[in-house]
Amino acid sequence: MNQKHELVIIGAGPAGLAAAQYAARANLDVLVIEEFSAGGQSLAIDKLENYPGILEPVSGFQLADMMRTQAERFGASFISASVLAVKKCDRDFAIDTSEGSIEAGAVIVATGAKHRHIGVPGEEAFAGKGVSYCATCDGPFFRGKRIFVIGGGDSACDEAMYLAKLSDQVIMIHRKERFRAQKALASQVNANPHIHVLFNTTAVEIKGGKKVESILLRNVVTNETHEEPADAVFVFIGSDPQTGIVPFVSKDKTGSILVDDHMRTSVPGLFAAGDVRVSPFRQIVTACADGAIAAHAASQYLDEVQGNAYR
Ligand code: NAP
Repeated sequence: MNQKHELVIIGAGPAGLAAAQYAARANLDVLVIEEFSAGGQSLAIDKLENYPGILEPVSGFQLADMMRTQAERFGASFISASVLAVKKCDRDFAIDTSEGSIEAGAVIVATGAKHRHIGVPGEEAFAGKGVSYCATCDGPFFRGKRIFVIGGGDSACDEAMYLAKLSDQVIMIHRKERFRAQKALASQVNANPHIHVLFNTTAVEIKGGKKVESILLRNVVTNETHEEPADAVFVFIGSDPQTGIVPFVSKDKTGSILVDDHMRTSVPGLFAAGDVRVSPFRQIVTACADGAIAAHAASQYLDEVQGNAYR
C-alpha cells in the first residue's frame, strides 16, 4: 500500500471518529487508521448515560458504530493497520504501518490510552484466568462469584456497578480513605447493596492454582495483611497515553501530549485529540469535542499550506 491523503487520523476512539466526521464533512480527503475496531476504550462501556442528548443509555459499541457510520457517510475511509511510526518529511508526514507506508498532509493522533497494571505478583500470571481489565468483556464469566475491583476513580466505580448486576459479592479495594470518582458515581457505589468497599487497602498478591483463588490485601493505615478468597480481580487504576509513535512531540510529565486550544502539538500539521493529550477531564464528550476542534484546525492548516486560506 502506498497512498496519500490530505488528513490521516490515527485511532478510531470517540476523538478519532468525531474528527473523521468533521473533517470529511469539511470535504477533506480523510483516512482513519485503527488497529482493532472503532470505539477504543468506549467499547468497554456497558451503559453510557452521560453523553448529551442520550435519554436511553446505549453501549459504547453502539455509539462507536453509529459514529463510524456517520463518518463514512460523509466520505471518511477506514483501514485496519498498526501504525509503527510517524515521521515529518519536509511539509508532509510519512506514516509507517503494518500494511505499508501512507503519506499525509496533516495528522491527528487520537491513539487514546491503555489501562495500567498494579504490578503485584500474580497479576500477569493470572491475566485471563481471573485477572481482567474489562468488566463488560469478562464479567459474565464470574456471574455469582466473589469479585474484587481495584481502583477508586470513575472507571472502577462504573465497572463495579456493572459487575454488581452479575454478582452480589463485589468488593472494591481503594488505597485512599475515599473515592476519587465523581460524587454521582461514588454515591451509586455506596448505595449498592452488592458492593462492599474496603478503603485504605491495597492488593499485595493475587494467588491461585490454574486460576485466581485468593487475594492478599494490606491495610495501609495499620499495615496488617490478610487473605480473602477471590474468583476474579478487575483492575481499573487509570491508563497511560499511547504516544510511542510520536516520540518527538512535546509532552507533560505524565507523558500526555501538550496541545494548544486548537489541538495543535509542537509539530506543525500534527494534532492530538482525546485521552492521548493533556486534559483535566476525560470523557467521551470531551474526546469528541477535541476531535471536532482538531479536524477544524487541520482543515485550516491544510488551507494555509495549500495557499487556499480565506483572507
Ligand atoms: P483515574 O481517574 O486516574 O483513577 C485511577 C484510580 O486508581 C485512582 O483512584 C487511583 O488512586 C487508583 N490507582 C492508581 N494507581 C494505583 C495503584 N498502583 N494501586 C492502586 N490504586 C491505584 O482513572 P480512571 O478511573 O480510569 O478514569 C480516567 C479518566 O476517564 C478520568 O478523567 C475519568 O473521569 C474518566 N472516566 C469517566 C467516566 C464517566 O464519566 N462515567 C467513566 C470512566 C472514566 P488515587 O485516587 O489514590 O490516585
